[in-house]
Amino acid sequence: MNLILLGAPGAGKGTQAEKICEKLSIPAISTGNILREAIANGTEMGLKAKSFIDAGKLVPDEVVIGIINERLNKDDCRNGFILDGFPRTIPQAEALDEMGVQIDRVIDIEVPDEKIASRLSGRRVCLKCGATYHTEFKAPVTEGICDVCGEKLVQRKDDMPETVLDRLNTYHEQTEPLKDYYEKKGILHIVEGQEKVEDTTALTFKALED
Ligand code: AMP
Repeated sequence: MNLILLGAPGAGKGTQAEKICEKLSIPAISTGNILREAIANGTEMGLKAKSFIDAGKLVPDEVVIGIINERLNKDDCRNGFILDGFPRTIPQAEALDEMGVQIDRVIDIEVPDEKIASRLSGRRVCLKCGATYHTEFKAPVTEGICDVCGEKLVQRKDDMPETVLDRLNTYHEQTEPLKDYYEKKGILHIVEGQEKVEDTTALTFKALED
C-alpha cells in the first residue's frame, strides 16, 4: 500500500508512521528526518535546508522532490511505503503524480491549533534513529534516552514556541490545500487526533481498512 500521512506539525504523523510501518512492514519515509540527517552530516543539501528549517519555512520544492524521487526508487519501496511530511505543497503532490507514483490512501491526522503548541513543546527526538517521544504522552523508558538506540534525546530547535507559530501558518497556507487535492481524487481519510497515542493509532488502522 502506498500511503501519505497529512497533518499539521505535531499532529502525530511520525508516531503513526512508525505504527503503520510495524503493522504493514513497509518503510516510513520522513523528508524531515532525511533533511535533519543531511544537516547533521554537513552535506551541501543540509547546509541549503538548514536556514529554512530553523525559520519554520518550507525547504524549496525542488530539493524535497529530488529527495523523494531518489528514495522511492529504492528496492524497499517496491511493496509500498508511508510518506510522512511529503507532499507539503501542491507542486510536490503534482510532482508525485508526474513521477507516476500511485497513491492508494491519504490519512489526514487533525489536531486543533490550540493543542499543537503544547504537543510540540513536549516533543523530544532521537537524531540518530529518528524515533520521536513526548515528555507527557509518549515518554521513553529512561528519561532523555532513546528506547530504540540509546542515544540522548533532544528538543528540535524548530519546536521552540517562537518558531511553532510560523510552522502552523506555513501549514495552513501551503499544506492544507492538499486535503482538497486528495479529496477530489477520492482517497482522503480523516482521523481525529486523540489525547492518547493508542487511541489515534486505532483510528488510523481503521482508516487503512475503510
Ligand atoms: P518535519 O520533521 O516533517 O516536521 O519537517 C521539519 C522541517 O523540514 C519542516 O518544517 C520543513 O522546513 C522541512 N521539510 C520537511 N518536509 C518538507 C517538505 N515536504 N517540503 C518542504 N520542506 C519540508
